[in-house]
Amino acid sequence: MYHQYNPGYLEVITGCMFAGKTEELIRRINTLQFANKKIVVFKPEIDNRYDEDFIVSHAGSKFISHAISKAEQILDFIDEDTEVVAIDEVQFFDKAVIDICEYLALKGIRVMVAGLDMDFKGDPFGVIPTLLTQAEFVTKLTAVCTECGSPATRTQRLVNGEPASYDDPIILVAASESYEARCRHHHVIVNKPGIKKELKSC
Ligand SMILES: [Zn+2]
Repeated sequence: MYHQYNPGYLEVITGCMFAGKTEELIRRINTLQFANKKIVVFKPEIDNRYDEDFIVSHAGSKFISHAISKAEQILDFIDEDTEVVAIDEVQFFDKAVIDICEYLALKGIRVMVAGLDMDFKGDPFGVIPTLLTQAEFVTKLTAVCTECGSPATRTQRLVNGEPASYDDPIILVAASESYEARCRHHHVIVNKPGIKKELKSC
């Protein structure tokens, strides 16, 4: 009649930029905070988008976090009382974060991670595919396409206002860069390898 409930599991919040991933992560953290859960939050050190000691959503919500450069540092901040571990921008962490998420979940910790599922080329982003496979729960959020208003799943990279090329370096010196949410049909990647044939016309 009663299920023995083991709290340790992994949940992933994913999607493109401007889909509200960090906002959703903070919402979940806040509800657990109200329940007095012991929560530890992390983000990669490179992401100093708004504030060094907080994870911050585009909408302005925030929660105090540890900015770390290597995934293995996560274990330094966790003890046996920790009930929830949240990681934002998890796509920027090294592969060790996969084993750490598994380890923590097996220890009975609720592990919540948020990150981009694709890079600007539309390719799978780093550790995310593996985390999606191992997660018990996956939430894929969409944004709104800036071109047509459809649900957006991709991140369009613009360099000096034009769509970026597949082989553009990640860091472009002296270029004005921006990002937009786009649907599949309005996501433009110059020189992307793929099928070049056209369907036969009737
Ligand atoms: Zn569109």
